[in-house]
Amino acid sequence: MSTIAFIGLGNMGLPMASNLEKAGHSVIGFDTVAEAMEKAGDAGIEGASSIGEAVKDADVIVTMLPNGSIVLKVFEEIIAAAKSGTVIIDSSTIDVASAKIAHEMASKAGLLPIDAPVSGGVGGAQGGTLTFMCGGSDEAFAKAKPYLEIMGGKIVHCGEGGAGQAAKICNNMLLGISMIGTCEAFALAEKLGLSQQAAFDVISTSSGSCWSVNTYCPVPGIGPKSPSDNGYKPGFAADLMLKDLNLSQQAAAEAHQATPMGAHAASLYKRFVEEGGNGKDFSGIIEFLKTAAGESE
Ligand code: NAD
Repeated sequence: MSTIAFIGLGNMGLPMASNLEKAGHSVIGFDTVAEAMEKAGDAGIEGASSIGEAVKDADVIVTMLPNGSIVLKVFEEIIAAAKSGTVIIDSSTIDVASAKIAHEMASKAGLLPIDAPVSGGVGGAQGGTLTFMCGGSDEAFAKAKPYLEIMGGKIVHCGEGGAGQAAKICNNMLLGISMIGTCEAFALAEKLGLSQQAAFDVISTSSGSCWSVNTYCPVPGIGPKSPSDNGYKPGFAADLMLKDLNLSQQAAAEAHQATPMGAHAASLYKRFVEEGGNGKDFSGIIEFLKTAAGESE
């Protein structure tokens, strides 16, 4: 049994912390929001009054926070209090540059850092079936893995520090682009008088097939059950897709790599989120693309 400090007990963090607790570990949580601390207490997670108190005796530290600047601030507080040799897993989705700085800070302080962003959403966090994309040394990965296996179904070691974040944003950039392409194909099929079922039957078994078509079709009543069958309730929220697309564009600018389709996907998701898509699943962009707003693009 290990002592695990869990920092950031939001929609994702709390169920992940609960799974660690249920697996028999002693979890001490901290969040800046009182309501999150109360919910964690109700779920049986012991609360700490500060980050320092949460991490001082921890064998493993997990952070699940909103963005890179918060992660760096929290890492400073962690480093000031944690024991040397402690494994520190950051599962937040953040920019690659901040992830690399966080690695450097933690390594210099004698900690074993892993960036381990996830896919699978709140359902995956609750069910312990998240996919973790990990960056860090072999030693840190080996020590983090048993804990990641409690919270996740698939754990991939992608490379050195920052590689997990890089893998996540490359995948999600492609997902954003492919979802828009899928929506355009089904919208055009409809205008051309082709039934949506016929379009699905052909595309899902032809060279246009992809996850957005085959598994997560944005058209209701077609293909396996997806958020389109539930009024576009997320699922994977459009504002989180926008966040990841923006992170991909930040990384592309820093790496001097042109990603014109990624840039266009980011601008379309920005408009979708601003013009009624906030709170909807990212596949709901099909409705936006079918409107005059989408046509003006
Ligand atoms: P959330 O906003 O529900 O949770 C973040 C928590 O961090 C909040 O409770 C907040 O109070 C806390 N926090 C902020 N600053 C803090 C600080 N200085 N110290 C301690 N706690 C602090 O967000 P979420 O949905 O749980 O997402 C967390 C991360 O996971 C994000 O980076 C997000 O992009 C990523 N993610 C989310 C999903 C999803 O479906 N929600 C899926 C994949 C990845």
